[in-house]
Order: sequence, then structure tokens, then C-alpha cells
Amino acid sequence: MKRALISVSNKEGIVEFAKGLKELGIEIISTGGTAKILEEAGLKIIQISEITRFPEMMDGRVKTLHPNVHGGILARRSNPNDLKELAELGIETIDLVVVNLYPFAETIAKDDVDLDEALENIDIGGPTLIRAAAKNFKDVAVVVDQADYPIILEELRSSGGELSFKTRLKLAGKAFNHTANYDAMIDNYFMGLLKKETEEMFPERMQIRLEKVMDLRYGENPHQKAAFYREIGAPAFNSVSTAKQLHGKELSFNNLNDANGALELVREFIEPAAVIIKHANPCGAAVAENLAEAYKKAYEGDPVSAYGSIVAVNRPIDLTTAKAMTGKDKFIEVILAPSYEPEALTVLKERWKNVRILEVGKLLTYPELPASLPIFDLKRIQGGLLVQELDREDLIEEELKVVTSVQPEKKELSDLRLAWKIVKHVKSNAIVLVKDGALVGVGAGQMSRVDAMEIAINKAGERAKGAVAASDAFFPFRDGIDLAAKAGVRAIIQPGGSIRDEEVIAACNEHGIAMLFTGMRHFKH
Ligand code: 5GP
Repeated sequence: MKRALISVSNKEGIVEFAKGLKELGIEIISTGGTAKILEEAGLKIIQISEITRFPEMMDGRVKTLHPNVHGGILARRSNPNDLKELAELGIETIDLVVVNLYPFAETIAKDDVDLDEALENIDIGGPTLIRAAAKNFKDVAVVVDQADYPIILEELRSSGGELSFKTRLKLAGKAFNHTANYDAMIDNYFMGLLKKETEEMFPERMQIRLEKVMDLRYGENPHQKAAFYREIGAPAFNSVSTAKQLHGKELSFNNLNDANGALELVREFIEPAAVIIKHANPCGAAVAENLAEAYKKAYEGDPVSAYGSIVAVNRPIDLTTAKAMTGKDKFIEVILAPSYEPEALTVLKERWKNVRILEVGKLLTYPELPASLPIFDLKRIQGGLLVQELDREDLIEEELKVVTSVQPEKKELSDLRLAWKIVKHVKSNAIVLVKDGALVGVGAGQMSRVDAMEIAINKAGERAKGAVAASDAFFPFRDGIDLAAKAGVRAIIQPGGSIRDEEVIAACNEHGIAMLFTGMRHFKH
């Protein structure tokens, strides 16, 4: 390796890397800003204009786009003709290309970025250098990630100035991934501009790009390998993907999935709330005047299922709440909260060595997220992805109506609203029973609605008396209503829309049960 070309926007770590290369006897060619920094650090470098015999043009729009540069990168070292042509034209080879690109992501993330500024931050020469070097990886190495600087130096030092085929291949793959992501980002930005003009939510080319965050120990089961990927360019609001782990064992595949379910449910509430999740379904959920009360009520919803659960709350965890959570016989796998008071954190850490404690920051409720912000929900099917908008809706007040002659009481109304928020987060067919601000029974993931009702009632036991029920979709028959009435349920909220709505409403009136229609269903499969 004789000559390197360095042209980086993010200049972190570049001086040390360049010094290391120089020490190995490698010459350095560099562009404007990069050259300046390296020279200031006392390194002797070759200006790019000496190679191109052209000045940098148009505010740097054209710096390295020149045959003297690209010929030097793309020449096949094993091809005598390539080398002869280079020699005739007086071009020297370039063996290492170190580039990172204009900060397009950071630029468009700014609130008031205008089109011209965004366009100036589309790197042209950089990706061209990266792609040329990556294409010719058999002879040239390309570095796009500063995390690789020390690793490369080490290999060069230990091998006497060479990088192995495997290293060069790995770097080249990474380089193409880098430029592909970069272009996807630009495409997404352009699609966003177009969307403003056309109001189109799902453009022809929707780019969903993923970036690996970490390997997971295994998937849903120990025999399945797994990893966690972050969606590049996903709207930045607090979620499990952005949470900070303060304590405990590594998060597992199932932990992450359940934690997501917990956080998305607790995000629904404005008043202090706690939710307890098992296998992605809530087994406890409650609101109260303070967080400790909310947690206790949520726990009482189903203490048996709460063992080994995932708990999420929407207020900072204080000492009282931490004490309530760590009671004897309790076992929690994951805790999620906006933040933790120091004494509370100590109590939680001391109680369980392994409990995964996640700090998520102040939770935004769905109404607080701009409606224009696209948040997607993805479901994998073999060979493809189903993409839909996330179900961010709660109730549309104008659509909500009492359809029975029986009217709900005020207290029942607030429980009905709570039940409706919870049932949205339960796998379909879903029925939930709520009483005094707390979930008391859940029937989740059933193939018939009447079975879901039966399970919810059984879970609630005595507590079904005076409870209210929510159903994620309409009742196709009156059988579910008859069961609820027998158990003592006082009011029911559901979307309505069945051809047998009249029969269902008549059943409610017969039993003295109030029924509300929301006009919107919340299937979740
Ligand atoms: P510097 O700070 O060294 O002046 O510029 C470094 C940046 O310029 C890098 O991000 C690199 O990708 C980019 N770059 C290199 N060559 C060209 C070119 O010919 N045109 C444009 N627009 N950018 C280039």
C-alpha cells in the first residue's frame, strides 16, 4: 500500500489515522478541508489539485471527480493494459480510499432546512470515490467508518503494510451498504417533498432501510438465531429502540417485543399509569392519582400472570413505586419508565441483579406526535412486508354514541374509555373488562369473540360484577352480551357495524346494560 486518498466530512479521529498511515510510509492525498486539518497537525500531504491539475470548483462541488483520481483507483493491478495506460497518462495508483460523506441526515433533520441547503449536502464525489474503490476491492481498500481506523492500522502494522482479501471484501461490502443507505435517505427526502405536493402516504418506492444494532442471544426460541435492527430514518421519538439500559442482563428478542408492547400501551395515557405485559398482551393496566397506586392496581389485575412480566409506566419511578414493585414474591423481567429517582433505582437494582431497567425519556402520547409524521407498522410475510400506518387513533368523539336506551353512569364512562384504550393493544379477538380504573379481565387472541368474552369473565371472577367491557371489533351475535350480562357487566364499548347490531342492542336493553359504539375497530393480529 503506497498511496491513500483521504476526504472526510466528519473529521473525528482522522489525524491519528493519517499519522499512523504516514508512519507506515504511505503517502496521503487530501481534499480542501481535510488537507487543512492534516497540515495543521504537521503532516505533509499532497493536495488533490496537484493530482487533478485542476482547482476545486464551484464551492467544492467538483473536487475529486477526475480521471487522474479515478484512473488511479480503478486500475486493475493485474491487468498489464490498465497499468500501461496509467503510465502513458502519467497517473499513479491509489491503494486506500478513506471517505465519509456530507452530513445529509443531520442537515435534513433540522427543523427549517431549505431545499438548496439539502441539495448542497448531497455528496457526489464522495460516493463516487467509495464506489470506485469498493468495486476494485481486489486491489484497493476503502474505509467509510471511523470505527475501523484503529483496526486497519493494526492489520497494516502487523502485516507490513497489506490488508487481507477478507478485510478488503468486508470493507467493500460495508462501503456499498453505506452509499446505498445514503441514497435511500436522499430518496426518502425527495419522496417526502413529493408527498407534500401529492399527499401520497405510500409512494411507489418506499425505502425501509435497516441498520444492525446488535446480535441477540437467540430469537423467540433458543434454536433461532436473531438480531435487532434499527429502522434508518424512522421518526425520532422515544421508543424501545431509543431507550437507554441502566441495569440488568442483555435484552432478549422476546423482551424487546414485550417491552415495545408495554411502552406503546402506556403511551396512551395522560394520567399516571402502569401496565404489565406478558407475551405482548397486557395482564394488568391501571390509572390512578399517583404512580404507586396505578402500579398496585395494575398488579392486582392478575398477580399470577404478573410473575416474570414487563412493566411500563408513564411517570418517573419514585421510591414508593419502586418499593411496591419489589415486594416479596414479585418478579419483573423488564422495567420501562421515563426516568428513575436515584433512591428508586437503587431499590430496583438491589432487588434483582438481572432485571433490565430501561430509561425511555419523557413519553409523548400519540396526540402529541404530529399527525403528519409517518409512523409505520410492519409485518413480515414470507418474501415480503406488509406496511401500514401505525394505529394511532383512540376515539373520535363525534362518532362515540350511546346506542341503548340504558345510559352509562359517569364512573362507567371513564372505565369504558380506559377499556377502549387497552383493548386496542390486545391481540384479536380481544375483550377486556375494566373496573374502577383498572384492568380486571382479558380474553386475548381468540378465534371467536364469545370465547374471548368467556376468558375475560373467568379472569375477572367476582370482579366482573359492576365492571365494563370493551371489544376490539363488533359482536357478530348476542351470545357475548348474554355472557357479560350474566357475569354482572354493566356497560360495553365496541365499534358496532355488524348486520346483527339491532339484535345485540336489544340484548343489552333487555339486560339493562348500556352500550356505546365507537365507529372504529382496533384489530391487532
Ligand atoms: P473537505 O472537507 O476535505 O473539503 O471535503 C470532504 C468531503 O468532500 C467528503 O465528505 C467527500 O465525500 C466530499 N467530496 C470529495 N470529492 C468530492 C467532489 O468531487 N464533489 C463533492 N461534491 N464532494 C466531494
